[in-house]
Amino acid sequence: MTDMMAGPPVDVAMPPDAIIRIKNLKKVFGDNVVLHDVNFYCPKGRVVSVLGPSGSGKSTMLRCINLLETPTSGEIWFEDQLVNSHETDVDALRAKIGMVFQQFNLFPHLTALGNVELALKKVRKMDKEQAEHIALEQLDKVGLLDRADFLPSQLSGGQAQRVAIARALAMEPHVMLFDEATSALDPSLVRDVLDVMRDLAKSGMTMIVVTHEMMFARDVSDHVVFMRDGVVYEQGTPEKIFEHPDREGTREFLQGLIDITPGQEILQDQPDSFMTSSVHFQRKGAGMI
Ligand code: ADP
Ligand code: MG
Repeated sequence: MTDMMAGPPVDVAMPPDAIIRIKNLKKVFGDNVVLHDVNFYCPKGRVVSVLGPSGSGKSTMLRCINLLETPTSGEIWFEDQLVNSHETDVDALRAKIGMVFQQFNLFPHLTALGNVELALKKVRKMDKEQAEHIALEQLDKVGLLDRADFLPSQLSGGQAQRVAIARALAMEPHVMLFDEATSALDPSLVRDVLDVMRDLAKSGMTMIVVTHEMMFARDVSDHVVFMRDGVVYEQGTPEKIFEHPDREGTREFLQGLIDITPGQEILQDQPDSFMTSSVHFQRKGAGMI
């Protein structure tokens, strides 16, 4: 790991007040260069969606932010702290950067309450009563107060994922990372989780969301990063990426997600509405397909 203690880089394109700044991030596994040169930032209180085909490096990028992977080179800044520095206190960093995974990662032997309480007791050193109070508050926020004593195996996938979100929120993170949080869920359970994520965005939480939920990316995010082959291939506002991307590859990717039943016509005189492989995606303008 390169020790870069020279202070924040001065870069007009990367506002120094952004809560997360990723600069020239490179990650190599053996001789496989998974991230070549990733650059983007996330301002405080904003939502950045990260889209891209499987294998493009989205999870690796996200995992580098809280050091679940060690960047090979480049810089990741969290607030005014260089993340990939030998001086980083990893537990303290992860307490401030909440992460939600596709597979929930709940402890199977602990109840919903037990899962949410755990880090409060272990990392925050709270006593039982205080941890329980906060954990119940968070479970209530995700609509699961009545499931506090259930084991993960007794919860639906959507409920388990909401427990995972409550667990992350209990630590009062400054930013939340979501890695395809709804991809493992039965389609009927996706909505509840997305609703929780929408509410969170509305409450002002800073979020970086890797997702295939195009409607969520379109409606909720302030900025969209499209990754391909380990680089940020194109980024911009949701309007730009979804309606008039600059690059053909972005257009191709978005078109590839669209699965229109043969014979089904898209009406040009009303907002377009069609099914993607996983979500119902509505588009305002015409002309993309
Ligand atoms: P995405 O999330 O966009 O699908 P990933 O970041 O999971 O992409 O993976 C990008 C590439 O990195 C893939 O080729 C994957 O096999 C490789 N990769 C990810 N994690 C590891 C690892 N721990 N060791 C080796 N290769 C990895
Ligand atoms: Mg992934």
